[in-house]
Amino acid sequence: MNKAISLYLHVPFCLSKCAYCDFYSLAKEELKSRYVSALCRALRDAAKMETRTVDTVFFGGGTPSLLTARELAEIFDALGSFSFSDDCEISMEVNPATVTEESLRAYRALGVNRISIGMQSAHDAELQLLGRRHNFADTVASVDAVSRAGFDNFSLDLMYGLPHQTEEAWQESLDAALALSPTHLSLYALTLSTNVPLYRLVDSLPEDEVQRKFYAMACQTLLSSGFLQYEISNFAKKGRHCRHNLRYWTRGDYLGFGPSAASFYRGRRHTEAESLDAFLSAPTGLRERIMKEEALTQTDAVTEQIFLSLRLTSGLSLSEILAKIPQKKEFSKEVETLTDGGFCRVEHERLSLTEDGFFVSNEIIARLLSAAGL
Ligand code: SF4
Repeated sequence: MNKAISLYLHVPFCLSKCAYCDFYSLAKEELKSRYVSALCRALRDAAKMETRTVDTVFFGGGTPSLLTARELAEIFDALGSFSFSDDCEISMEVNPATVTEESLRAYRALGVNRISIGMQSAHDAELQLLGRRHNFADTVASVDAVSRAGFDNFSLDLMYGLPHQTEEAWQESLDAALALSPTHLSLYALTLSTNVPLYRLVDSLPEDEVQRKFYAMACQTLLSSGFLQYEISNFAKKGRHCRHNLRYWTRGDYLGFGPSAASFYRGRRHTEAESLDAFLSAPTGLRERIMKEEALTQTDAVTEQIFLSLRLTSGLSLSEILAKIPQKKEFSKEVETLTDGGFCRVEHERLSLTEDGFFVSNEIIARLLSAAGL
């Protein structure tokens, strides 16, 4: 078992709902103070039995930057029940419409040392279509506030494959993001669940071929600007990868607090109910709820190891995986076929996906799992 553990805190409030979003969040800020009290109780309760050091914390949402400095201070006070590593990475997602230099200074003074800004696009028309509250000028102002507040580590999120998005517009968003000098970039293709308003408003999203082109443009632009790709959607300057997200992909333990938050703990997976009411009425007992879940079987664990490792450019150790799967010959044959097709590569005994493989990773990983007999 890992010596260190991560904590994820889901802050389920937003100023309003974006048209494409199906994360659990509510435009009900009036419930924030009850949520903060419940969250603090949940943290203190979970810390009682957890002796491992916390080395990453992630405030996600929702919009964590809707927390006031005072509310965040209460949460940090409760976090103090855990023991922290000296170099603990503490990330906070912020929405450009919701931060000021003053609030950022307060976050930093409390211990936040990494900021993730939901830029999404450099084009106001695209942001409007997505139902975002901010415009590009807000992103520029937020980045300025982030650096004036003393942060030297911040990430930008961008979205591609938007309705009617042109290659030119995507390249402009990439260039505008780079001009803001982030240390990290996350790129996501827009996908729409049937239950979000944007699904009903747009006829279609760009074809796969167009999306593939957008992905290739992003990889080329970022790699030629000194970024290293370490995961399908994530790029970082040297040493600036998100350690918290790496814990997810390397199957390390993490506890997730708040409605809809996921945990992986002592071989069990658990997701909290998507209900603020449920969280407010039973904030404690997270560890007990997790331990009631069934532990993953060996087959589940190997399946997860394959699909999570193959999201990473570092891939997986072939000899390690071959020792764990039932159909070694068939798996090796499929690896060969996919390598010949340009979707995989094997270097120094490690199997990883190429850029073409990343773009169709679900399909490639499904083929590998089936060949492995999993
Ligand atoms: S700010 Fe983020 S979490 Fe909130 S509604 Fe928009 S996309 Fe969803």
